[in-house]
Amino acid sequence: MIPDSFKQDLLNRVDVVDVVGRYVKLKKGGANYVGLCPFHGEKTPSFSVSPAKQFYHCFGCGAHGNAIGFLMAYGGMGYVDAVKDLASSVGMQVPESRPRSPEEAAKKEREPDLYAVMEKAMEFYRAELKKSPRAIDYLKGRGLTGEIAARFRVGYAPDDWQGLKAVFSDYQDKSLVETGLVIDSDGKRYDRFRDRIMFPILNARGAVIGFGGRVLDKGEPKYLNSPETPLFEKGREVYGLVQARDPIRHAGRVLVVEGYMDVVALAQFDVGYAVATLGTATSPVHVSKLLKLADELVFSFDGDAAGRKAAWRALEVSLPLAPDNKPIRFLFLPEGEDPDSYVRKNGKEAFESRVRQAETLSQFLLAQLRSECDLATAEGRARLVSLAKTHLERIPASALKVQLTNEIGRLAGLSEEDTRRLLGPSGQQARPAGPAPARPRLRQPPSSTEWKLLSRVAAYPGLAAEIDVAVMNPGLEESRALREVCTYVQAAADELGEVSQALIIEQFQNTPHAEIIFEAQAHALELKETEDESREFVRHILGSLQIARKIEELKTYEERLGRGMLSKDEHRQYARMISEVKALEMRLRSDGGPAAK
Ligand SMILES: [Zn+2]
Repeated sequence: MIPDSFKQDLLNRVDVVDVVGRYVKLKKGGANYVGLCPFHGEKTPSFSVSPAKQFYHCFGCGAHGNAIGFLMAYGGMGYVDAVKDLASSVGMQVPESRPRSPEEAAKKEREPDLYAVMEKAMEFYRAELKKSPRAIDYLKGRGLTGEIAARFRVGYAPDDWQGLKAVFSDYQDKSLVETGLVIDSDGKRYDRFRDRIMFPILNARGAVIGFGGRVLDKGEPKYLNSPETPLFEKGREVYGLVQARDPIRHAGRVLVVEGYMDVVALAQFDVGYAVATLGTATSPVHVSKLLKLADELVFSFDGDAAGRKAAWRALEVSLPLAPDNKPIRFLFLPEGEDPDSYVRKNGKEAFESRVRQAETLSQFLLAQLRSECDLATAEGRARLVSLAKTHLERIPASALKVQLTNEIGRLAGLSEEDTRRLLGPSGQQARPAGPAPARPRLRQPPSSTEWKLLSRVAAYPGLAAEIDVAVMNPGLEESRALREVCTYVQAAADELGEVSQALIIEQFQNTPHAEIIFEAQAHALELKETEDESREFVRHILGSLQIARKIEELKTYEERLGRGMLSKDEHRQYARMISEVKALEMRLRSDGGPAAK
């Protein structure tokens, strides 16, 4: 584990503006730098990088992180590699991991960092690949260079029931089962992945969340994925996104294929914009996520019956999400081919020309519907209308919908008026029947007092020292986040002095509070207060909270007073509290209160 003091030092010395600026064109705009977000497709910049706060934030898609996070999410580096890269750029040496104290070891036992476990496993598999001539030969046989294998961090799980024991001395640790690396069967433990080529699956932040393992020769199953774990939710993730991000932006296109080998082989042939779903059908989350990244979304399927069936499911998922300005296409390769075999046989040019000629969503839909109806008969044409109607109803009102409606009317031999009557908006089709399009949660920030405090602490972490977290309403998410941040900053202050915002990201990015803390930091980007103004504001709020709490207490006294239940002592106490509240209120008023809201 890399100590916090080193991370803080590192994050203070590197400049996130330089790091991001290596990849993204940034322009100074006020206190921050702005540019086109590298994490989603956009025409006007909503991506900010703050030199003062040392983090980036996208107001469009919510991407958020510090310099280390940027290299992971955009550069596709592992955590350790990103830290090393930054350290060497400022002439720092990453400290060797120090032995843990018993207390630290106990804490580790309670809250295993599952991401660290996954990263360690990935490094193990990568090292094993170097030791296995058979695995290397296999990859070479598939035309992969060492460079591409390194870019995708491909590894090899040895043919050993407990291979991971080599790097996890406590093979009984529950984190190994929780991450799906190890299977526990009635107390007997063994590695899930054995004698397989290992493809690490990364989340958008570049952290390892799962693995896909492929057999080298015969053997079943051919592909084995990590199970769903606290880190890994299959319907949300795609394979290869981090590596594909730049090529996707460049090509304006994202290609969805079925296997990791397809992604890697295509990248080997310089078709870098491919990603793969992970052994699940295409989900609405996949579609809406990918549509944000590119101007065109192309699904690739095998040309056989199973491929067409999977394609049809992808079409049904896409209908409610299909935008007018971004075509969705379906590529069918000749029977028996997948992108991996096709590109190796025919090369990049031939593959890409097929991609460009891929059927559009409406072509695919119409062809499929036509194949199910005999248009030579009245019954067949009526059937077409009724089949089409259910699909048309799922498309949001759009130019695409109008086009398709007219086309189907024409095929069914309907007059314009009949088309409108039979297929047009029936007044009750406002909501598409499918699952609602998944959008990233960019909600309105909460308006609670605790949120206001959190946003000030996010802007100036030093203010954490002012805050007594005991007075916060523990029912709110922002209070819990505030409590965690304040506790961390107060405790770390002894060792680190002022804790930086970039370090707070480091500390909280893989916790349940990450999202709200990042929102608070984003809010801080636009906050116009100086630190002193924020401090005054925090004190004022804390004062009001204190008064509110005392008034609550007074109420219980009053209630008992009304029933004549107060003792003499309690009477005195009651009177003292009233004057205390008055004094507090006076002081608060004489402070004037901050102008900020
Ligand atoms: Zn963005």
